[in-house]
Amino acid sequence: MQTLSSQSIVQLWENGQRQRPVERMLTLLVAALPDVPHRDIFALSIGQCDAYLLLLHEQMFGSRFVGFMECSHCQERLEFSFTVTEMWAGAASVDEVGKVYSYQMEDYKIQLRLPTLADMLAISKHQDAASARLLLLQRCIVQAIRKEDAVPIEKLPGEITVTLGEKVLERDPQAEIQIDMICPQCQYHRPAFFDVSRFLWAEIQAQAKRLLREVHILARAYGWRETEILALSNVRRQYYLEMVAE
Ligand SMILES: [Zn+2]
Repeated sequence: MQTLSSQSIVQLWENGQRQRPVERMLTLLVAALPDVPHRDIFALSIGQCDAYLLLLHEQMFGSRFVGFMECSHCQERLEFSFTVTEMWAGAASVDEVGKVYSYQMEDYKIQLRLPTLADMLAISKHQDAASARLLLLQRCIVQAIRKEDAVPIEKLPGEITVTLGEKVLERDPQAEIQIDMICPQCQYHRPAFFDVSRFLWAEIQAQAKRLLREVHILARAYGWRETEILALSNVRRQYYLEMVAE
């Protein structure tokens, strides 16, 4: 896994302006895993993607995640602070992705594989959550049989699909990161979902803007070009900035 250079942070931010969140996730993974063929990145399970993003965050910004979220009960602004270790649940192994698993649930016999990044990209084109969910089920359920007859995926009972979702999470736990939040204002306690990709993106965005502000200051002071300023190490750039500020 490669840490991202100043140039690639600015490039990622620029490209990400016109991307959907899941496309940004792909962009981040492609940049951080330059030696991995793209088809293997598309084939990562969601848990594997999240695991890589947690590690990328650790490498670039440290192992602590600090931010704010709103209490869903009283709308109080809550500060959270978690480490990568606290959010580490473990992802599916390489050979578990693409493998077909069989489950017997009531009268239904279901075969499915774990959702991948390619599946998330495919469903992200759907605006409404219900059709996105159905498409995900259609892509990942290889076969659904009830008393010898094939069942169309859209006819599967809701409780069966919910249980299938739980089965997927058992095999790829990192696909869902839950953090424990207690509101000091109303004592409301509920596990909250943490979107590592969105969080990391916000940090990349802030970092890119910081870098461009530094380019602006140094270009004005010394007449250097953007590529030259971004190619400086952070230590050197900060030292020049201090001198400009004197
Ligand atoms: Zn509250």
